[in-house]
Amino acid sequence: MNFVVNHENELLLNTVRNFMEQEIYPHEEMVDRTGEVPEELGREIEKRSKELGLFACNLPEEVGGGGLDYAAMHLIEREYGKTSHALHAWAARPTEILLACEGDQHDRYLTPCVTGEKRELFALSEPEAGSDVMGMKSNARRDGDDWILNGSKHFISGPCMPDFAIVFAATGEDERPRGPRKRITAFLVDVGTPGFDCRVGNKCVSYRGYNTYQLSFDDVRLGPEQILGEEGRGLELAGKWLGMGRIWVGACCCGKAERILDMATEWAAGRRQFGQPIGRFQATGFRLADGAMGLRAADLLVADAVSRAERGAMEDADAAMVKVFCSEMLNRVADDAVQIHGGMGLMEELPIQRLWRDSRLERIWDGTSEIQRHIITRAILRPLGA
Ligand SMILES: Cc1cc2nc3c(=O)[nH]c(=O)nc-3n(C[C@H](O)[C@H](O)[C@H](O)COP(=O)(O)OP(=O)(O)OC[C@H]3O[C@@H](n4cnc5c(N)ncnc54)[C@H](O)[C@@H]3O)c2cc1C
Repeated sequence: MNFVVNHENELLLNTVRNFMEQEIYPHEEMVDRTGEVPEELGREIEKRSKELGLFACNLPEEVGGGGLDYAAMHLIEREYGKTSHALHAWAARPTEILLACEGDQHDRYLTPCVTGEKRELFALSEPEAGSDVMGMKSNARRDGDDWILNGSKHFISGPCMPDFAIVFAATGEDERPRGPRKRITAFLVDVGTPGFDCRVGNKCVSYRGYNTYQLSFDDVRLGPEQILGEEGRGLELAGKWLGMGRIWVGACCCGKAERILDMATEWAAGRRQFGQPIGRFQATGFRLADGAMGLRAADLLVADAVSRAERGAMEDADAAMVKVFCSEMLNRVADDAVQIHGGMGLMEELPIQRLWRDSRLERIWDGTSEIQRHIITRAILRPLGA
């Protein structure tokens, strides 16, 4: 689908497409095979993305970012979705949560992320608390003006070893009518702080080369100036930006589905069995038709959510619908594409198996499909008091 509404965005789309053709696509196969992005390649992508104005393009101009609006970011994220996070993440879009930085935090964390001098991680998930965020064990207790952080995080992802992590930890409990509820606070924790260990963790078969990190905190002393936002308001802060993150997951899924459908279509037209192209068999052709319909619907859902976000009218359930619909559409398209390719679909010589593996993650990270459906259900039932 064509979402370009003005000349500026048309130029932007051309820039991103050329960037992908020149800096990203040529390295996909090597990165997947070796499971890593060589540092010099990552730095080259970073450098080129800065030259083209793509680095930190999501952040406002006031803080040094590219100041792109949601319509422009939609185009970018949809294009990036066609490739691996391991590569496009080097053209960073730092997390908008950093806009909550105040005072010295600007110079220490936000500005270096905008210029590319520093890289951050967003550390919420824990080994025993994934979907159940409130089950987190990480905690920080007061010690005078300082805080002492203990606990661990896993599956925390990024393209390279970070300089600091935005770490969510319980800093006490609030009494609520339904019982006590953890107060969650976001801390800015520098790699190298005594007691903080950050190392490469589990290897994921989706987006090989995009690292997950394992973080552990053993009596890590943090000053009050390392709290991001307000004490006890960490989840509200994260929630402000998580919705847009889910919409960008949806946009990425649409981009990837389009690329996969193109490959499947080409194969269905070129591969002959029983004397004719396999696309002429309804069983194959209908898979392409269903894929095209699913993609069109998903694209429209993303566009609707983007327009709601632009009007300041986007709700959690809108983002959840995008996340679950687009990621499940992508997985159907990817699975059908493997089927259309037959045995060759699973061979390393073709990129289909990689795109199929990459697609699988989209239903899990940023909140699983099941959790998104809970969010949608809650929004439907709440007005009825159920
Ligand atoms: C490659 C990768 C990168 C990631 N990057 C980050 C990151 O940068 N930062 C970060 O904080 N996290 C990150 N995550 C973590 C990710 O967000 C979690 O994996 C995800 O939220 C699911 O948590 P879990 O893996 O613990 O699964 P679980 O919570 O254990 O869920 C397992 C299954 O149970 C289901 N389930 C759980 N609760 C319910 C329920 N109430 N109702 C119905 N079904 C339920 C789930 O839907 C799922 O199917 C990453 C994960 C991966 C794999």
